[in-house]
Amino acid sequence: MEKIIDETLQGSTLAPTEKESNSRKLYIESYGCQMNFSDSEIVASILAKEGFNTTQELTEADLVLVNTCSIREKAEQTVRKRLEKFNAVKKVNPSMKVGVLGCMAERLKSKFLEEEKIVDMVVGPDAYKDLPNLVQEVDEGRNAVNVILSKDETYGDVAPVRLNSNGVTAFVSITRGCDNMCTFCVVPFTRGRERSRDPQSIIEEVNDLWEKGFKEVTLLGQNVDSYLWYGGGLKKDFEKASDIQKATSVNFAKLLELVALAQPKMRIRFSTSNPQDMTLDVIETMAQHKNICKYIHLPVQSGSNRILKAMNRLHTREEYFELIDNIRKIIPDCAISQDMIAGFPTETEEDHQDTLSLMEYVKYDFGFMFAYSERPGTLAARKLKDDIPEETKKRRLQEIIQLQQKHGLYRTQQHIGKIEEVLIEGSSKKSDAHWMGRNTQNTVVVFPKEKYKVGDFVNVKINECTSATLIGETVGQSDNN
Ligand code: SAM
Repeated sequence: MEKIIDETLQGSTLAPTEKESNSRKLYIESYGCQMNFSDSEIVASILAKEGFNTTQELTEADLVLVNTCSIREKAEQTVRKRLEKFNAVKKVNPSMKVGVLGCMAERLKSKFLEEEKIVDMVVGPDAYKDLPNLVQEVDEGRNAVNVILSKDETYGDVAPVRLNSNGVTAFVSITRGCDNMCTFCVVPFTRGRERSRDPQSIIEEVNDLWEKGFKEVTLLGQNVDSYLWYGGGLKKDFEKASDIQKATSVNFAKLLELVALAQPKMRIRFSTSNPQDMTLDVIETMAQHKNICKYIHLPVQSGSNRILKAMNRLHTREEYFELIDNIRKIIPDCAISQDMIAGFPTETEEDHQDTLSLMEYVKYDFGFMFAYSERPGTLAARKLKDDIPEETKKRRLQEIIQLQQKHGLYRTQQHIGKIEEVLIEGSSKKSDAHWMGRNTQNTVVVFPKEKYKVGDFVNVKINECTSATLIGETVGQSDNN
């Protein structure tokens, strides 16, 4: 399952590089959403030009970077624990420098240098191009901070080094920041205002990935449907653009089409969609292009109109149902997944029942479910008391998870007996004799390896399932190879 926050990846390090002319070692650990993992590859690419090879051995590192997440309190606690560990290593190796990157760096800024004494460098998500200067400052014995958020930084001109890649699937960042101002969410404060990347540089990256043998890309952003290119600049400043800029602007549906046409055999996915911004033309574009996968991650967060309003989600339950109905009408076999938050301030049992009944209506294929975690500085933290007891949050979350498991199984059962195209990504975690891949709906499919190899598109007959996995056998190559 493709997760926005994939628990199995948390804290993973970038694989080593061995460029001979580079003499220093960079150890970089990443937490949080896919955007952070993608950013770490941009950072590695920038620092490779400054003489750094990546390493997975903490003890041999000259520079240790931790790319952080602030989305929930637990994510920040994990990073603080890691910093304690780095501190212990630093005692043995005092020349080792430690830097904090990403959302927590942006949220806490120079407080990090004061509170976490072992930190030498604090770098926000829009300041990675300044790393060469910041590293030099640190080398000269000064602490370094750059947490300036940018109006136009998209790193469109930095080719990320794909270090932890399976060589088959890759993420391509298309927007940065978020303008949604959901009251629970820290992202607009840590990643700044929304801006879109030049479509030309996106297409070039996709073409380059295809040349290198990749078969699937996921276009990445906090709110991809809001993508709007009009020559650069913040989304909120589009109003001020010239007539020619407006006339030649590229929205998300157009971008999807451009990418799909640029590489007709490459699978295209995207994440995340926000219901209020997902328009019919996006769904129609998906239906028109065989290589755009039939899967939409469509977080709703709650099924209660009252809570949706308090979260500033800018759509109602009824409008969400209308969107779901349209998706099912235009792409009948489209998979849909959710993000849900249990125990938002003031949530009553009735609100919670509304969430469960919304889930019954949609019967999501997958879901990513969380207990509400108050984040300092957000509108909810300023205006609403975190008044739902922990045990109530946990119980509601458990009910949501259980219902999702039931629906997951209902959805996977619909695949049994069908022949589906699967892109092979690697060996199954449970068995070396089996491949693991995904169908267009993003469901994991496991089957015996036979003569096939990673990167092949194969047709698989689905024989069995669990609530999250399909099990089958190959019936030949697909015509997409
Ligand atoms: N931009 C996407 C959206 O608007 O839905 C995803 C944002 S976030 C990186 C991923 C998920 O984390 C959210 O969809 C939400 O369910 C969850 N999340 C965000 N803030 C949270 C909070 N304060 N407490 C619990 N979960 C939270």
